Amino acid sequence: MSTPASNVLDLIVIGAGPAGLAAAIAAGQRGLTHVVFEKGALVNSLVHYPPAMVFFTTPELMEIGGLPFVSPHEKPTRQEALRYYRRVTDTYKLDVHFEEPVTGLTRDGDGLFAVTSQNRHNGDLVRRARFVVLATGAYDIPNPLGVPGEDLPHVSHFFHEPHIGFRREVVVVGGRNSAAEAALELYRAGARVTIVHRGEGMGDAIKYWVKPDIDNRIKEGSIRAHFSSSVTAITPGHVVVSGPSGRQQIPANQVYLMTGYRADTTLLRSVGAAVDDPIHAPVFDEATFETTVPNLFVIGACVAGKQSGKIFIENGRFHGQAVVATISGRVGDRGVLIPSILNPAAP
Ligand SMILES: Cc1cc2nc3c(=O)[nH]c(=O)nc-3n(C[C@H](O)[C@H](O)[C@H](O)COP(=O)(O)OP(=O)(O)OC[C@H]3O[C@@H](n4cnc5c(N)ncnc54)[C@H](O)[C@@H]3O)c2cc1C
Repeated sequence: MSTPASNVLDLIVIGAGPAGLAAAIAAGQRGLTHVVFEKGALVNSLVHYPPAMVFFTTPELMEIGGLPFVSPHEKPTRQEALRYYRRVTDTYKLDVHFEEPVTGLTRDGDGLFAVTSQNRHNGDLVRRARFVVLATGAYDIPNPLGVPGEDLPHVSHFFHEPHIGFRREVVVVGGRNSAAEAALELYRAGARVTIVHRGEGMGDAIKYWVKPDIDNRIKEGSIRAHFSSSVTAITPGHVVVSGPSGRQQIPANQVYLMTGYRADTTLLRSVGAAVDDPIHAPVFDEATFETTVPNLFVIGACVAGKQSGKIFIENGRFHGQAVVATISGRVGDRGVLIPSILNPAAP
């Protein structure tokens, strides 16, 4: 049975991170009917970053929809970013359905997408749209170490609150920025911190104001470090490490595995879109962001799969505009180009 045209949206955006919000703003400006589904809160990934984190990006490089991001700091805090994206969402009156994860995505014989979301009050809901933009990020599935004990309750891939490390033995695994920041925050909250990293030292891409701090704490012995070492097992009280001094057991009440994250490709696969398996990234056209399924687009961090370090807010914020320009070209004369709220002269 075909769906009445009035019940079909032009566009459904999945994910209310910076990339998805920018796409929704662009859709509104082009007169496309659209809605955004978000499984958690607004900019849910940022909500789960460590509370005291400071971005490495200057505020203007995190702006979307042309709305100025004003901060008294050279690099904005997480709190400022959360406030900024709330303001953007209100300014553009974006229609975001929070706590409504998309769990199913299919394409009907008539070429329309059926998007199933889980609504807490009404159960599974199905909406139809001509176009779908996946903006689901890459912060949901941690890269596993693949060692015994990784699933124990005191082991986490997400660092949130340093206070719980007070007077406890904490092992941080990894040598990049997240590991360095977690180790420093834990140390300053009174934890006895040991870093385990397979590299010969902490990574060179660590934020320039964090790198000397972590290197010096390691040099003076305030934070212990096992470099060129790998974790072979985790027990309820220890982390077993293999390195230049052989096999060692490091006491651990809490273990943070800061080994990075990757995109969830379940929806892509379910609708038949090709995925580059080793990197968990969608196959897509780099000019249009279209996947191998016509009218299905991917934007933001999820385009990179597990290759963190390729997409940031800085560059992912522009993907949505490109996609919406393509969609507008396909739907024809849908509507007038609505100028930006802030700069009526600009598109
Ligand atoms: C600790 C840390 C610090 C960072 N610092 C910086 C920085 O300084 N500068 C910078 O530019 N970048 C930084 N980044 C990277 C940046 O945060 C990401 O590149 C950015 O958030 C990606 O935006 P996005 O909209 O593509 O994805 P996300 O922000 O991850 O948004 C994806 C959204 O989709 C939602 N979602 C996922 N699956 C579903 C589903 N099935 N249904 C509905 N909703 C779903 C998620 O809940 C989430 O809200 C940092 C990352 C980390 C981890």
